[in-house]
Amino acid sequence: MSTAKADFTGQVALIATMHGKQVAFAAPLIQLGFTVQTPEGFDTDRFGTFSGEVERSGDMLNAARAKARAAFLHSGKSADWVIASEGAFGPSRVVPMLAEARELVLAWRPADDHEVVVTRTSFETNFSHLDVTGETTDAELATWLERIGFPDHAIIVREGHTPVKKAHRSGFTLSWLASSFSGPIRLETDMRAHLNPTRMGEISILGSELAERLSYPCPTCAQPGFGLTGVERGLPCEACGTPTELVRQEIWSCGACDHSQSRSRSDSRTHASAGNCPICNP
Ligand SMILES: [Zn+2]
Ligand SMILES: [Zn+2]
Repeated sequence: MSTAKADFTGQVALIATMHGKQVAFAAPLIQLGFTVQTPEGFDTDRFGTFSGEVERSGDMLNAARAKARAAFLHSGKSADWVIASEGAFGPSRVVPMLAEARELVLAWRPADDHEVVVTRTSFETNFSHLDVTGETTDAELATWLERIGFPDHAIIVREGHTPVKKAHRSGFTLSWLASSFSGPIRLETDMRAHLNPTRMGEISILGSELAERLSYPCPTCAQPGFGLTGVERGLPCEACGTPTELVRQEIWSCGACDHSQSRSRSDSRTHASAGNCPICNP
């Protein structure tokens, strides 16, 4: 496969964001040659806020598409590419005790509707809530605030079903809550990127992955965005050759044509340790 990287010099990448996410995307895109812009006065909050449910990635992709198209129109259709991102948070489907963060970033080229999408699922999130009742103690409140990374990470106060105060970063005590609100109170982590450094970190990782993906043209059709889209498991045990659950091959594919390749692992590992083997270490 060709190792020539794509060069986007002179092309404008518009980052469809109002929550400071350009910080996460700009540097890796500039390295590819892009001129990075953000749409002035663009309001992404009208695309909805976090429900606390883990959404299907198809829904996240459609939400990112809507955001990208709106930003493109808002900017006067001047960009070559539009970058939009979506996050969803909720209980993990693998380990339901843990909260899971799912992030999706879309790069869309309006001229030919070409899309490059990268996603990331991780446990790196402070997503959580605390219901404050008459039984709640100052110690419980303090423990929760510390666990979610307050005050570096902001929180939202919800009175009943309505978020009444947003982005709190100081002054949290039970007596303050009791004197400020009357109904049932729920404290929630604020998941907007500029108020949640943990989330911004995850988006930054994905921003670098997006740039990496964009930099590889498809060996068949030359469209940018050829990259890892799946894996085949079954890396053989070093002692007995039995297939293990570890990744044996990476599947790279193109979003524009149906070309795909099986590639050896990027770390060149050809065998699993016996500790991962269902026969040697049952
Ligand atoms: Zn074995
Ligand atoms: Zn292709």
